[in-house]
Amino acid sequence: MLIGVPKEIKANENRVAVTPAGVAEFRKRNHEVYVQASAGEGSGFSDEEYRNAGATILPTIEEVYAKAEMIIKVKEPIEQEYGLIKSHHLLFTYFHFASSETLTRAMIDSKSVCLAYETVEKADRSLPLLIPMSEVAGRMAIQQGAKYLEKQFKGRGVLLGGVPGVKPANVLILGGGIVGTHAAFMAAGLGAHVTIMDISLPRLRYLAEIMPRNVQTVMSNEYNIREAIKVSDLIVGAVLIPGAKAPHLITRDMLKLMRPGTVLVDVAVDQGGCIETCKPTTHENPTYIIDDIIHYCVANMPGAVPYTSTVALTNATLPYAIQLADKGWKQACKDNNELKLGLNVIKGDVVYKGVADAFGLPL
Ligand code: NAD
Repeated sequence: MLIGVPKEIKANENRVAVTPAGVAEFRKRNHEVYVQASAGEGSGFSDEEYRNAGATILPTIEEVYAKAEMIIKVKEPIEQEYGLIKSHHLLFTYFHFASSETLTRAMIDSKSVCLAYETVEKADRSLPLLIPMSEVAGRMAIQQGAKYLEKQFKGRGVLLGGVPGVKPANVLILGGGIVGTHAAFMAAGLGAHVTIMDISLPRLRYLAEIMPRNVQTVMSNEYNIREAIKVSDLIVGAVLIPGAKAPHLITRDMLKLMRPGTVLVDVAVDQGGCIETCKPTTHENPTYIIDDIIHYCVANMPGAVPYTSTVALTNATLPYAIQLADKGWKQACKDNNELKLGLNVIKGDVVYKGVADAFGLPL
């Protein structure tokens, strides 16, 4: 198959959809790979590395789209790219269609086949192409939280791990899924005293088994949250209710219970946030302060660490991309139900219920 890897043009997007290692895998199977010049630069991969792995470097995005049958990307196409997408293209990328009718209609009009990373789903209902970004965001939440606890950022001036003779910081993590688990491991590794709250008892049992001794599990309810936030230095919001807005577990009035300089990192900001006072911020301007409480609510946290994010994402996407390249989308989706669930738009028809429902389109 002829595979195209364009450079991402959405603002502040430094990830790339295929690494030189991925190119080598495609080449081993006799697929051609066309990579746009400097596509990997933001993630630390040079054109030379891609060339050495067997890719053909093309100078413009137009040439990549013109040559390729399958386009592998990271972010949804933006308006400038709509005209490049033709009926013979298979697009494999994050789309998040339900949040943009313009994008959905543009892809319907293109008559292309759109397979969305975010709806590829395993039999246990896990989403294998979203997990890597949750892993990155969870780990980063602690790195960022530790930084904003420093005094120059108006934090409490507490070192997460303490030192001999000084108590470590208290870290509270709301939600013990992928983000919460990775945040807990990071905070525990730095020596903090960590509390994870979740509403799922089986999940709490599992966490209690795998976590180190400086992590305790507590049932998530309003009473326990109100008690815990009084003594927490860093609070991470990592709650998800699939298909719904995040519940506000920390309300505006609860900020008064916290000590000045407490840091809130609301990773769930992309689903509306689980802290009422959370509003999306950017890496350029990541924090704001309300009632002496520091809020960090960056909606695309993995964007700050493109090398790690690119490699983590492509580790997960490549096995699926290889199936698509080897068999073509029809046969690959017939053979693998996980991939089939990724199909959102096929040649002018919406085939994913959530997207059809979002805009009242026929299924
Ligand atoms: P997940 O489904 O693995 O985990 C969510 C957990 O929340 C589950 O264990 C669930 O039981 C728990 N939960 C639900 N209601 C709760 C409540 N009232 N109290 C405590 N726990 C509750 O999801 P995830 O992959 O960990 O993602 C968490 C959030 O982080 C999502 O909103 C996701 O979109 C977001 N996210 C954001 C970024 C970013 O850059 N900001 C990156 C990746 C993921």
